[in-house]
Amino acid sequence: MNVSYRVHSKTYSIETRSKFEVIRITELIENSVRESGIRSGYVLVFVPHATAAIAVNEYEPRIVEDYIAWVKKVFPAGAGWRHDEIDDNAHAHIASLVIGQSRVLPVLEGRLARGTWQEVLLLEFDGPRRRTVIVQVHGV
Ligand code: ZN
Repeated sequence: MNVSYRVHSKTYSIETRSKFEVIRITELIENSVRESGIRSGYVLVFVPHATAAIAVNEYEPRIVEDYIAWVKKVFPAGAGWRHDEIDDNAHAHIASLVIGQSRVLPVLEGRLARGTWQEVLLLEFDGPRRRTVIVQVHGV
């Protein structure tokens, strides 16, 4: 059988509402996988931003508060960062650097393969802003 490798790309625009925010984007990713028609491969989720991140984990109101509390504790705003002299958002850059601006997830049998408590999350550290999320499904 001759199957050809394909790439299906989609770009989404998301308005964040506060300085720190966790937004569940699982449905967008699942829609992209469905639209692609790709049965086996992987999906790349990327934010072209230096003060936001992509992560995979549970989305439940209390744990979401915990994520934000952790980010504020580990990457405190205004803690004497040099970049704050010009932009006032060094904490957001460092959180984005450490947590990461992309994730890759498997696509199996035409579906996003994820655990029950695994949601794809867009993390905002310097909102509110208009954010772009690039979703690329690769495979056959
Ligand atoms: Zn900056």
